Amino acid sequence: MNRDNQFDVIVIGAGQAGPSLAVKFANIGKKVAIIERKLFGGTCVNTGCIPSKTLIASAEVAHIARRAQDFGILINGDIKADMKKVKVRKDDIVNKISSGLESWLKDTKNCTVFKGHAQFEDPYTIRVGDELLKGEKIFINVGARASVPPIEGLKKINYFTNSTIMDVDFIPEHLIIIGGSYIGLEFAQMYRRFGSNVTIIEKASRLIPREDADVSDTVKEILLAEGIDIRLNAECIELDKHDEKVIVKLDCKDSAKNITGSHLLLAIGRVANTQDLGLDKAGVEKDERDFIKVDDQLQTNVAHIWALGECNGKGAFTHTSYNDYEIVAANLIDNHSRRVSDRILTYALFLDPPLGRAGLTEAQVRSSGTKALLGKRPMTKVKRAVIKGETQGFMKIIVDAETKQILGAAVLGVGGDEIIQSILDVMYAKAPYTVIQNAVHIHPTVTELIPTMLEELKPL
Ligand SMILES: Cc1cc2nc3c(=O)[nH]c(=O)nc-3n(C[C@H](O)[C@H](O)[C@H](O)COP(=O)(O)OP(=O)(O)OC[C@H]3O[C@@H](n4cnc5c(N)ncnc54)[C@H](O)[C@@H]3O)c2cc1C
Repeated sequence: MNRDNQFDVIVIGAGQAGPSLAVKFANIGKKVAIIERKLFGGTCVNTGCIPSKTLIASAEVAHIARRAQDFGILINGDIKADMKKVKVRKDDIVNKISSGLESWLKDTKNCTVFKGHAQFEDPYTIRVGDELLKGEKIFINVGARASVPPIEGLKKINYFTNSTIMDVDFIPEHLIIIGGSYIGLEFAQMYRRFGSNVTIIEKASRLIPREDADVSDTVKEILLAEGIDIRLNAECIELDKHDEKVIVKLDCKDSAKNITGSHLLLAIGRVANTQDLGLDKAGVEKDERDFIKVDDQLQTNVAHIWALGECNGKGAFTHTSYNDYEIVAANLIDNHSRRVSDRILTYALFLDPPLGRAGLTEAQVRSSGTKALLGKRPMTKVKRAVIKGETQGFMKIIVDAETKQILGAAVLGVGGDEIIQSILDVMYAKAPYTVIQNAVHIHPTVTELIPTMLEELKPL
């Protein structure tokens, strides 16, 4: 082996954890290799958070423009999305971030970038094309991809996943979305606002079934109000094609339950990119869902190999992947002990209005048997929401009746994705809810009503 191909650190995958870790090691003088087979920045930058939220921003402008008269503003003429321009805007933002990341890695001293598919040859050796790289420490950050389950008839259909829909520069006449969870719902509202007819098909009895029922029901009302068709309890989904149209059979028997659309998006979960890594040659163990098994500090069963980000099954978000980088860097470089179990679950659903979530759901607290108190406030009773003409949704918070610590919260309403974080910070501080209650907040904001909600706590 060429001596130049011996590294202190090899990072596989330039997603949300790998690049920062590679640069951190390189900056302390370690010889680092980072290998990326496709696009720098991985899912989030290229086919996930950044492009989807950029498209959502365009869709929101169309929506606000259509509502202009409600605010006394006159806009003459139809409001239409120019999808070619919408896509160019999205591509510009994505390309700048992805190429900026690639340049950052290439310009970092001690860091060598390899382009190609990486595979283990043995526990210390990685093959990239014809090259063999040896690493003392190896970090896997290979992420996940859209799951395409074997649905009957799928082979007949040209369908989109979250990746391929990013290339669309037209308005589908009728977009059918299979999957009524986070990704499916964001695309549903976005395309409805661009001008498509949209139908969401979900197997469960409610949308986003991991959320509390009141959250699911309110989200359903919000989407119905925008004219989105929602079909729940889809018992048996089968696909067919007729004259270039997509037919989705909802119970495989009764043709009255068929839906005909122009295009189909599959938004039914994600699978880890761990099948083609040669993990068996390194002796690295996976679980039954193909996630790489790791401990609380993200070390695999092989002592010199770690797995970060979505491929370890400990989080499915950009912020959890980045936090994995922080945990590994703290433990291996900065001499601070950080663990995955210190993390509080938090995320947003970027609908309009958004849902911000932190900690446990009401249902989880109820089933845990913890003595708890609940506060809830509709957005109709929040002046800022009234001023902005966005009174859909509510916020709720659950606190431990004995310790007074916050167990969980949901803010489904204007600004919910930002507001939740003021609650999250108090949860990290392990402070009692009375800290928020006694703080003076800015008027008129949504956050100023959190103390009022806390004054009205009732036993769960
Ligand atoms: C439509 C959509 C919207 C989303 N929105 C949000 C959001 O708003 N907020 C949020 O927090 N999360 C969001 N997510 C989730 C988020 O994008 C992912 O959780 C995050 O990108 C995971 O990061 P990662 O570092 O684990 O992997 P990734 O970002 O997927 O990166 C993995 C990288 O590894 C590379 N790779 C894989 N195998 C190999 C190999 N063998 N050799 C070399 N390279 C390899 C891949 O090409 C990829 O670049 C969204 C996801 C989708 C699909």
